[in-house]
Amino acid sequence: MKKERLFTPGPTMVPEEVLLEMAQPMRHHRTAWYREMAKEVHELLQYLFQTKSLCMTFTGSGTSAMEGAIVGCCPPGHKALVFRNGKFAERWAKVCASFGIDHTVVDVEWGHGIKAADVVKQMDADPKIDTVIVVHSETSTTALSDVEAIAKVTRDRKALLLVDGITAVGALPVKMDAWGVDVYVTGSQKAMMLPPGLGFAAVSDRAWERIDSGKMPTLYNDLKAYRKSHETFDAPYTPAVTLVRGTLVALRMVKERTLEAIWSETATLARGTRAAVEAIGLKVYPKDPVDSVTAMLVPDGVDEGKLRSTMRDKFGFHIAGGQGDLKGKIVRFSHMGYVDAFDTLGVIAALEMVLKGQGYDVKIGAGVAAAQAVFAENLA
Ligand SMILES: *Cc1c(COP(=O)(O)O)cnc(C)c1O
Repeated sequence: MKKERLFTPGPTMVPEEVLLEMAQPMRHHRTAWYREMAKEVHELLQYLFQTKSLCMTFTGSGTSAMEGAIVGCCPPGHKALVFRNGKFAERWAKVCASFGIDHTVVDVEWGHGIKAADVVKQMDADPKIDTVIVVHSETSTTALSDVEAIAKVTRDRKALLLVDGITAVGALPVKMDAWGVDVYVTGSQKAMMLPPGLGFAAVSDRAWERIDSGKMPTLYNDLKAYRKSHETFDAPYTPAVTLVRGTLVALRMVKERTLEAIWSETATLARGTRAAVEAIGLKVYPKDPVDSVTAMLVPDGVDEGKLRSTMRDKFGFHIAGGQGDLKGKIVRFSHMGYVDAFDTLGVIAALEMVLKGQGYDVKIGAGVAAAQAVFAENLA
């Protein structure tokens, strides 16, 4: 077996400290031990989301937390606006449809982020809209939305803003309270240096008012049940004890390193990767890319599926392809989780080698040199 190197935008690589913590013998959760751990995890989540709001840990992937947030915040009498600019945004529209939530879906060309002006336009056209759902970093297209500016608009208009921050929180600057976001959601297997299995939601007082004002058909992802249990640092159902242990260790590492340092290093990894992509002669996709994942267009004559399978089978590098309309057209590298400049130079080196093996004209080392120059300037 090859050494596994996860550059997929989830799951991502997990540090040894976290893995070892999760390898400890099983302990029971209805104990003071668990509650103390849950309390510290909560404080660290508040740091992660940059908020004083209640932060909840859901058993389930990021989708469970997002579903709970959308359903709770959209009781009858309220209307949601979903911008569908990629695969994940599409999922939030599906949640609205599945639960019979009154909503409008606005299709935005894939690869485009959402701007405050887009929100203004829709809200002006339909005054019933009082809940806006956006994806901060649309992982499927690597497009970035301007959450800070959107939050200003939704605040002014007394609407709630729900943000899927699943590949943003812990990778890109996220300042929930300073920006005035009502619900921010993330998942364990992206930027949090954890395996899949947990969703996290930070919920503002304004969002709680809305949640408390209505009744929605929900049970397992019911935010109210999580809030009630949180009073004693318990969980409404059996929590994923092992993953919560891992979360404690991972978030302590985040705190020690500081978010500012992580945001800055993630941006540097992305900048170096983009420089490498250009030096190799490829094109970065899209125009305004996020820093947590880099996508590049696959050149003519190169088979995207074979490129990825060769990266994986020969060198152990797992990278992602495109989804939906972008299937076969792009490949994506993550800059999230337990990954550094030297891991990133490795994936670039492997990309050059595999491209060359497929007959693509690339000067071996050109991408590595370009990325290394960026890293030298910013990290050394
Ligand atoms: C991965 C991802 C999700 C879905 O998360 P799951 O953990 O698969 O439920 C949602 N939104 C974005 C932006 C993601 O990257």
